[in-house]
Amino acid sequence: MQALTKSYKQEKVEGRFDVIVIGSGMGGMATAAFLAKENKRVLVLERHYTPGGFTHVFTRKEYEWDVGVHYVGDVHRETTELHKMFNYITDGKMKWEEMGPVYDKMFFGKDQYHFVAGTEEFKSTMKSYFPGEEAAIDAYVDLIYNTQKKQRFFFAEKILPNFLSALFGNLMRKSGLQGNKTTLEVLQSLTKNNKLIAVLSGQYGDYGLPPAQSSFLMHAALIKHYMKGACYPVGGAQEIFRTVAPTVLQAGGQIFTNAEVKQVLVKNGKAVGVQMADGKEIFAPLVVSSTGVFNTYTKLLDAATQQQTGTAALLQKVRPSVAHVCLYIGIKESNRTLKLGKSNYWIFPDNYDHDQNIENYLANPEAELPVVYISFPSTKDPDWDNRFPGKTTIEIITLAPYAWFEKWKNGRWMKRGEEYKAWKEKMSQRLLEALFDKHPELRGKIDYYELSTPLSTAHFVNYEQGEIYGIDHTTQRFDQRFLKPRTAIKNFYLTGQDIVSCGVGGALFSGLITASAITNKNLLNRLK
Ligand SMILES: Cc1cc2nc3c(=O)[nH]c(=O)nc-3n(C[C@H](O)[C@H](O)[C@H](O)COP(=O)(O)OP(=O)(O)OC[C@H]3O[C@@H](n4cnc5c(N)ncnc54)[C@H](O)[C@@H]3O)c2cc1C
Repeated sequence: MQALTKSYKQEKVEGRFDVIVIGSGMGGMATAAFLAKENKRVLVLERHYTPGGFTHVFTRKEYEWDVGVHYVGDVHRETTELHKMFNYITDGKMKWEEMGPVYDKMFFGKDQYHFVAGTEEFKSTMKSYFPGEEAAIDAYVDLIYNTQKKQRFFFAEKILPNFLSALFGNLMRKSGLQGNKTTLEVLQSLTKNNKLIAVLSGQYGDYGLPPAQSSFLMHAALIKHYMKGACYPVGGAQEIFRTVAPTVLQAGGQIFTNAEVKQVLVKNGKAVGVQMADGKEIFAPLVVSSTGVFNTYTKLLDAATQQQTGTAALLQKVRPSVAHVCLYIGIKESNRTLKLGKSNYWIFPDNYDHDQNIENYLANPEAELPVVYISFPSTKDPDWDNRFPGKTTIEIITLAPYAWFEKWKNGRWMKRGEEYKAWKEKMSQRLLEALFDKHPELRGKIDYYELSTPLSTAHFVNYEQGEIYGIDHTTQRFDQRFLKPRTAIKNFYLTGQDIVSCGVGGALFSGLITASAITNKNLLNRLK
């Protein structure tokens, strides 16, 4: 990893670059790599000391955990665009391990439901749980595929130059936006069975909003993404950065960590470079921000530019997504003996009402947790035992609004005081109990645990409200035409999850469309 990056604290940025990309997450790195493949010299500037954004990993004691990659769909099938994109930008080096037939297990009280890989398998399993709902389940799966198909023009429109977008944009977006209703509205049009609705929308945690609030466009994209099964990166999530970075370097690019950008330099309505947090200026003809629209439009542009380009009004139309806490667990025993399996768990209260459960929890943090998500990363990674023999890791996530933590935001990392520590300990115990409920054999075996909070997300990945998925995936979000690569500032572009959707796949695709917009070429044509 060391040779792939330089530290801005220790080395000078030297040389001329065609493009500066701010942020080294999946969106920033994909943009940099697609541009590198077009012979552009790209400078990637990453604020954190570890590259990769939400694809980075961290270690404590003798354990390692991923922070934002638990499973990725569609990468194992050679015909998919995601597979081809990864192949292209990593020169075939990125490898994935399939999770097996059951990628997600849902628990509603004592009831259990499996999400099974394969369209027919998915349908028949759901039908076995819900006799009498066969027609609704068939119609649902058809709708998922149709909604996804119609998205092509919607995303193609984002690449168009402004004048073409003004001419044809509405038409191209129209069919894609047909499914832009709430997930609940669409599901209720197919069935009156509330249990079926709750099960089908049980992966809502993957995009952060319960069915009455999320757009069906996001829901359909997610369901289709995992429909044929899910994978985990062989060697862990950092392999994504490790395999993409050489493509950027081989074209003469460089990647700096500890390199916080303070502002984008704009002269006469054109981006000309960036000013670093230490005041130094670095110039390049093109600048791309992958730091999210809130960071980009509130922090990276000076007040005058914000005013001229009307960014405050644009940001009124979107809102930050939910935040989360994650319990990182280490066990001093191999998965070979623990036999935990690869499936993710989604654990819900038994009332089958996600929206109500979130409402209860937001009003009262002591209320039953609306969702507990458990992932077993060390069992999913076939290379784990080579790197960490005799060790097992587990991650447990639940939602938690930033507002609960705001009072501690001015404390230093790891030194936020006793009240904060006590809150974390209480939540850690609640999450551990959820694990022991499913795996009583693990009681007494926990060697290490540590809870991250929305303040950790803000500290490490720079999302001010600790948001887990950038901006929220509401119906209103998908109506916003400013969520695309081109901005009102010449030579200044956006990339990353906010211009497509959250997820490794969404961020990867954002790289393709931003690089396409910059080069005025449809880079999809490069994929084989
Ligand atoms: C807990 C969690 C679980 C997830 N699980 C999955 C999953 O299982 N599957 C899946 O597909 N997706 C998952 N996701 C979502 C996925 O990880 C993200 O949608 C995706 O990685 C976002 O990529 P990005 O490049 O847009 O943003 P990021 O990865 O956030 O990258 C932005 C980068 O910009 C940097 N930056 C910010 N400000 C500055 C600045 N001023 N100067 C320089 N650099 C700056 C940040 O440090 C960061 O590295 C998960 C996310 C979370 C949080």
